[in-house]
Amino acid sequence: MDSSGPVSASAPAGPGARKIIPIVAAESELVGLYEASKKIYPRAVRGMFARWRWAMVFLTQLVFYGLPWAQWGERQLVLFDLAARRFYVFGLVLYPQDLIYLSGLLVVSALALFLFTAVAGRLWCGFACPQTVYTEIFMWVEHRIEGNRTARMRLDAESMSLEKLVKKWFKHLVWIGIAMWTGFSFVGYFTPIRDLGMAFLQTRLGSWEVFWVFFYGFATYGNAGFMREQVCKYMCPYARFQSAMFDRDTLIVTYDPGRGEPHAPRRKGIDPRSMALGDCIDCGLCVQVCPTGIDIRQGLQYECIGCGLCVDACGTVMQKMAYAPGLIRYDTQNGMEAGWTRRQLLRRVLRPRVLVYAAILALLVAGLLASLVTRTPLKVDVVRDRASLARIVEGGRLENVYRLQIMNATEEARDYRIAAHGIEGIGVSPDERIAIGPAQSRWVAVRLQVPYGVVPAGSHTVHFDVRDERGGIQVSEKAVFLVPR
Ligand code: SF4
Ligand code: SF4
Repeated sequence: MDSSGPVSASAPAGPGARKIIPIVAAESELVGLYEASKKIYPRAVRGMFARWRWAMVFLTQLVFYGLPWAQWGERQLVLFDLAARRFYVFGLVLYPQDLIYLSGLLVVSALALFLFTAVAGRLWCGFACPQTVYTEIFMWVEHRIEGNRTARMRLDAESMSLEKLVKKWFKHLVWIGIAMWTGFSFVGYFTPIRDLGMAFLQTRLGSWEVFWVFFYGFATYGNAGFMREQVCKYMCPYARFQSAMFDRDTLIVTYDPGRGEPHAPRRKGIDPRSMALGDCIDCGLCVQVCPTGIDIRQGLQYECIGCGLCVDACGTVMQKMAYAPGLIRYDTQNGMEAGWTRRQLLRRVLRPRVLVYAAILALLVAGLLASLVTRTPLKVDVVRDRASLARIVEGGRLENVYRLQIMNATEEARDYRIAAHGIEGIGVSPDERIAIGPAQSRWVAVRLQVPYGVVPAGSHTVHFDVRDERGGIQVSEKAVFLVPR
């Protein structure tokens, strides 16, 4: 038996007894595997990337909050009317049968994400992701009400007072207001927003609308007010697989250790080389401004959302110290190691991987646009009426019954005429115009009749031809005509 292993504390004592190793650690020696997250108090910073972030906040929120209020003629410009199974996007009226366009849009979005990530890392995360955008808005509110980073830390540390209570309540009130408006705008994409507003004012909302306004509002309040960087660190899958899209020529926010190390504080005006120091003065500003609370000097980390705020912060420090800018900068791993110029870096952007992504993306976008432009604004679904069997009718003709759903995807009323082909002498009843209103659909019972005996028993392929008389558009749909034995 291996005598070096742990033994029971009840092993016998006496000459030759093995040394007893305690297997239960004292309570003071226990190491917890759980660590509560520490609240991050990001310091506000000014600079080019901070301005870009705010520009993106304005742009994305202008689109998100503004789009449901925009009109296209008599209707909402963008409306996903789930109840009526109709989607209005600018001048298009889409039916569930047009789901292929949504799939195409998702594929294009995914490829665009691959492309931008391969070129410049987590641009989406740092500048356009809703989590980033709403956290930025909520932090701005916090800053306005509770003060700067130091004031916020002091306020949280002090015991409850009337001033603290008022500030906290007011902050949460504003947050809840923004969150609820966000939930309301979100639901406004699925139900006409003006009607929704009136229904809210008159407290006559449907239960699903109330649920989604509160659910989306609550998610915004929780994610942007409390969870913040934890959503990026622990919940977002993109942070985990982004490294698969990076390569050594991807632009990332990076610290130049060759220039910055060894870091240490020093007075302004001292030549760091004379003290065998690098350019980093160890001020910690890059950590204080970071919304995820990391130290970029420790290298690329999955928590880094690529917001560039540490670039702004360090740039200010370098300027104050009269050092060259760019100790923290957007650079590539290859560029950093070889000391490439900006021109050399940009030349490497057009590498094979990026060109392939860009070519596929361009082809997909062109294909999607072409199919949208040439799309037929008429859809037809054919269902054989299983309740009625094939039968002989007046005049010795054999009849099968079908149900046709005719969908008018234009915004004008249209008349349609139904014909059929596939069997000699085939006829359609009723042989009359079918009127369908703008962006409406209608189910029509249609009987197909063929002279008895022209085709043998079995199933035969026939085609319904639905023709838009005014638009000159025709859609053909296949069906099966059954001839009994
Ligand atoms: S802001 Fe710049 S100088 Fe200050 S600690 Fe960060 S890297 Fe060093
Ligand atoms: S390390 Fe810099 S770029 Fe990355 S999240 Fe922090 S502040 Fe933003």
